[in-house]
Amino acid sequence: MTRPRPVIAIDGPAGVGKSTTARTLARRLGYTLVDTGALYRGVALAARDRGISWDDEAAVMAVSNEIRLGFVSQGDGTPRLLVDGQDRADEIRTPELSAGASQVSAYPGVRRALLDIQRDLGREGGVVLEGRDIGTVVFPDAEVKLFLTASAEERARRRVKDLQDRGMTADYHEILAKIRSRDDADSTRAIAPLRPAEDAVILDSTSLDLEAVVQHVLELVESCN
Ligand code: C5P
Repeated sequence: MTRPRPVIAIDGPAGVGKSTTARTLARRLGYTLVDTGALYRGVALAARDRGISWDDEAAVMAVSNEIRLGFVSQGDGTPRLLVDGQDRADEIRTPELSAGASQVSAYPGVRRALLDIQRDLGREGGVVLEGRDIGTVVFPDAEVKLFLTASAEERARRRVKDLQDRGMTADYHEILAKIRSRDDADSTRAIAPLRPAEDAVILDSTSLDLEAVVQHVLELVESCN
C-alpha cells in the first residue's frame, strides 16, 4: 500500500516519553496525533461509569463495543478523548485509570474493538500513532517504526514530574512499582504483548533529550520520502 504521507508508529513502555515525542513530531510535521492508550483508558472509564468491574471480561468487552470513542483536536493539536461525544480527557489521566487501562487492554475482545478505530484514524497517513502494538499489530506496514525504551527508574522520575506539573501528588516509589507491574502485564500478556516489531528502530532515551529523539525520527521520515 502506498500512502502519500507516512504512518509513524511510536511504541514503548509506560512513561518512556512517547507522548511528548509524538506530540512534538505531529506538530512539526503537521500530522494528526493519535494517542491509542487514551482509547484503552476510555474503555476502563466507561466501564467504571457503569459500575462494571474491570475483572468482568465479558461486560468490559460489551462496553468497548457499545461506546463511541474519538478525539477532538485542541488548539495546540493535542488530541482530547471523547467518550460518547463527551470530553473525558482529564479524567483518564490518573494512576487508577492507568491500571484499569492496562487490565482491560489484556482482553482480546477489547483489543479487537479498538483495532478498527485505530486503523481508521491512521489509514490516510500523515499521522503519528503512539501505543504498545502500533508497529506490530495496528500498522505492521507503517513507514516509520520507532520503539522507545528507558530504564524504569528514569521513567518513574519523568512520570512524577509530569503528574506534579499537572498539580497532582505523586510518590516516586509507588509510581516505580506501578510502572514495573504495568511493564510486566503489558509485555507478558498473551495478545499483542509489548515488544518491538522486527523492523522497528529501537532507541534508548534514558540519556537522550527530547530534541535528539525527535531529530532521529525526522531523519527516518526524511529517508522514507
Ligand atoms: O499509553 P498509556 O499509558 O496511556 O496506556 C495505558 C495502557 O493501555 C497501557 O498500560 C497498556 O496496557 C494499554 N495500551 C495497549 N496498547 C496500546 C496502547 C495502550 O495495550 N496501543
